[in-house]
Amino acid sequence: MSRRFNPDECTACAVCTVHCPVAAATPCFRGPKMTGPAFERLRLFGLHDDDSVEYCSNCKNCDISCPSGVPVSTFNMLARAAYSRDKKIPPRDLLIGFSGDIGKLVRHIPAFLLNFGMKNPLTRLLLDIIGLDKRAPLPAFAPLNQRQALFRNTKHISGDKGRRGAVALFPGCFVSYYEPGVGLDIISLLEKVGYEVIVPGDFVCCGLPLLCAGLYDAARERAEKNRRTALGLHEQGMTIVSPCPSCALMVGQEYEALFPEDAPVSVPVHEAASFVYSLVEEGVFDIAGARPIAERLAYHAPCHLRALGMGRPGLELLSRMPGVRVDDVNAGCCGLSGSYGMKKGKYEIGAQTGSGLFAAIRESGAQLCVSECGSCRTSIEHGTGLPVAHPLTLLARAL
Ligand code: SF4
Ligand code: SF4
Repeated sequence: MSRRFNPDECTACAVCTVHCPVAAATPCFRGPKMTGPAFERLRLFGLHDDDSVEYCSNCKNCDISCPSGVPVSTFNMLARAAYSRDKKIPPRDLLIGFSGDIGKLVRHIPAFLLNFGMKNPLTRLLLDIIGLDKRAPLPAFAPLNQRQALFRNTKHISGDKGRRGAVALFPGCFVSYYEPGVGLDIISLLEKVGYEVIVPGDFVCCGLPLLCAGLYDAARERAEKNRRTALGLHEQGMTIVSPCPSCALMVGQEYEALFPEDAPVSVPVHEAASFVYSLVEEGVFDIAGARPIAERLAYHAPCHLRALGMGRPGLELLSRMPGVRVDDVNAGCCGLSGSYGMKKGKYEIGAQTGSGLFAAIRESGAQLCVSECGSCRTSIEHGTGLPVAHPLTLLARAL
């Protein structure tokens, strides 16, 4: 693994430490300044045995807040990869890392069987024994017909690109297996205004769960495959859109820094809400003419959406919809961070991290919460008991 960042870009201002939710929740974590650039200087001399990197949730609040642009979370992920290199990966991390492959493997099995298999007390006990905390929320598999419907559009574009153009949807694992309805809502929105939308079967997991589990080589393999697929689609003139902020960040921005030995091909991947919002600004969607939704909503901006640097497109969209009253709760990380808060020893850290957000949502008096990230939706539902939707689902219902 070659490194391209210079830890001396860090001025030791400690702003990142103030913004790190894990450092705030536990004294076990040295914090981003120490675990990232400070220890990177030791790692440059080959000292990789620092288990503090295991505490980093990869939420990226350090990167977002650093005034010097130091990619702290990238240091941490590469450090975790080096730390795990010669170690046996525990079954819990294999399960989490390869969850995308498992989802694909069981894609023809009805949801009631999968959900009974995953969520019955005996399985939860066994999962707890291997390190998945039995108190943690596990997302439920979506009905089989929805999972199959999403991947019905896997054909490649053959000349007729719709009157507005062609979009390739990279649904990501969460939407593919747990919430395909979100992908279907996005397809219906885009088709309504003249896009042809396909869901290419060649995309695989973005590799983030593998990277966070220390499975660097497997993550790199996925990155290489996705880069080839994305480049091919881009060359056909297609716009790549993902409903998952983490997938958009990983495929569209992070591969190059994480896998610097591979071809430096960067293909833009648009986060879905920001793509639709850009169409609203162009006047393509008539939001003002949408059916009024008489709901009081609480909006949560996912950490990885903020790391994309695109603002809060979901909030902007909702604010323009007739009848909607939406509060930006702006109360930090949800604590789940993909699968971080599901792990034994991390569940308490995640719950403590998310507690401020959950309290703010409850205090807002909202009946429904909205967020772009599937992991945040799972966490908020678990922490507040409120239903949580993707902003484009609400828009699709209103238009
Ligand atoms: S990625 Fe998140 S948990 Fe990790 S060091 Fe940065 S702020 Fe802290
Ligand atoms: S990484 Fe950035 S925010 Fe953190 S101490 Fe260094 S310069 Fe400051």
